[in-house]
Amino acid sequence: MTGREVCYKKKVFVDVRVEADFSSGWYSRNPSEQAEYLKRRCKDFNEFIRDHRSQDDITLNCDEIYEEQCSICGTEWETDILQEESDDGFPAGVEFCLQCGAVVNTEETP
Ligand SMILES: [Zn+2]
Repeated sequence: MTGREVCYKKKVFVDVRVEADFSSGWYSRNPSEQAEYLKRRCKDFNEFIRDHRSQDDITLNCDEIYEEQCSICGTEWETDILQEESDDGFPAGVEFCLQCGAVVNTEETP
């Protein structure tokens, strides 16, 4: 083999965020128009906080955000495969982590 450590892609829970879903409201394919609409809805919602009326179509969602990382070095998953053997003897056709150089485990991930 290559003498390097063997890594695998792991899914890591890294963050959480709450977002308001205005999807039952008006929708435009033009991002600028949509931004204007959403800014107006946010302003309306801030006013709702003061007098809470007529905003019951708004849904709050809690999204868990995941990132694919190398199991050894913990950086975002990015790999490469050499077309030819490298000067230091790393073989062609073997997938490895671009950050730490560990060889990717091609079998089932744990
Ligand atoms: Zn790595």
